[in-house]
Amino acid sequence: MQYGTTPELAEFRSEVRNFIAEYAPSIPPRAGVRSAENESEHRALQEWTARLYGAGYAGSDWPAEYGGRDDRSPDHSIIVGEELARAQVPGAQSGSVLASHALIHFGTDEQRRRHLPEIRAGRELWCQLFSEPGAGSDLASLRTKAVRSGDAYIVSGQKVWTTDGHWARYGYLLARTDAEAPKHKGISAFILDMSAPGVSVRPLRELTGTSDFNEVFFDGVEVAADAIIGAPGQGWAIANATLAHERTNVGGIVVKLRLAVEALVELASRVQINGRPAIESDRVRDRIGQFSAEIEALSALTYANLTRWLRGRERMHDAAMGKLMFSEINVELARFAVELGGEAGVLVEGDPNAIDGGRWQDEWLYARAYTIAGGSSEIMRNLIAERGLGLPRR
Ligand SMILES: Cc1cc2nc3c(=O)[nH]c(=O)nc-3n(C[C@H](O)[C@H](O)[C@H](O)COP(=O)(O)OP(=O)(O)OC[C@H]3O[C@@H](n4cnc5c(N)ncnc54)[C@H](O)[C@@H]3O)c2cc1C
Repeated sequence: MQYGTTPELAEFRSEVRNFIAEYAPSIPPRAGVRSAENESEHRALQEWTARLYGAGYAGSDWPAEYGGRDDRSPDHSIIVGEELARAQVPGAQSGSVLASHALIHFGTDEQRRRHLPEIRAGRELWCQLFSEPGAGSDLASLRTKAVRSGDAYIVSGQKVWTTDGHWARYGYLLARTDAEAPKHKGISAFILDMSAPGVSVRPLRELTGTSDFNEVFFDGVEVAADAIIGAPGQGWAIANATLAHERTNVGGIVVKLRLAVEALVELASRVQINGRPAIESDRVRDRIGQFSAEIEALSALTYANLTRWLRGRERMHDAAMGKLMFSEINVELARFAVELGGEAGVLVEGDPNAIDGGRWQDEWLYARAYTIAGGSSEIMRNLIAERGLGLPRR
């Protein structure tokens, strides 16, 4: 199944494909949502972001005065997501995408005028300052506080898992402004200048060997009162509205998995088990067939969910089913590829004997991230059980 089969959408797809072939940054493909590894990658990603916005392949749903386009629909965004996945090229940086939606829907005119053009030009990278050591799945328990003092708020506390925090110029911050209010009602959203005195960013070294996310500490950071997004106490509603926005990216995950199966078949034809090509083993063939069937089921589910969403009939558990299925298949597929590689399968990028340049090892180690980020697999199962199947809450 491929999304968008009308002649107009087919032409759009080929236009996007040509654009990616011509302008995509030459950054080594890595699994998942990764940060720039150095200055030159950072600059290349900034330029790429500017090109995506410039061509209307990102931000086409923004207000027209900020570059939105009436001739684009969610179908077009889905196709862009699929083509980026096919080419193994990153899209516009996710922190900036979330922040721009918060500004568009809840910000002031001044905030929009100041930040949206800079985000479009790739000059302003944002990070998402939501999760804390004690507040991830239960985000509403967050404890970072912002206390009003004259024309400013004073922010103290800690965030963790902050993707791109070490490159970002601004943070989209959730902090508690009212300790007395019920926990969902006492949270506000802010624009935080990452270079302000009192902000410290510490990159975390991950399983993969790279640093994509960070710890961020706030020690009495002064944030101007007009840097609040929306009204005091509206932070929870703003965060939920912006997180729910990101549905059009899901087409890319099916493309990613299908490509992974093709690469798995190719790998199984190259490596040997007991002196014979692995692809001749029944066990290997069964497993690859099973992955393929699961991915086609996921594809059907994904596009059914998208159709419901586009018609305004999305159910609470739709996205959870797709996310759970994707992240679990993704872990197992990468694990199987590492196993197929035998001893060489566990070698990492940079080792001359690594299979496929260490790609599968990186995929496998990173695959865990998808089972946690954006709602862990356990939380997805709870949602499906309670909202989808109507089982009693625990
Ligand atoms: C790669 C990556 C990038 C991320 N980037 C960002 C970012 O840029 N900004 C940001 O703010 N956050 C980011 N996050 C954080 C992410 O949103 C949280 O990791 C996620 O919400 C889970 O929270 P936690 O890690 O605190 O786990 P916890 O909530 O502490 O959960 C720990 C374990 O307990 C289980 N658990 C928790 N509650 C329940 C329950 N009610 N029932 C059953 N099991 C439960 C969980 O499934 C998990 O296995 C990122 C995470 C990852 C992995």
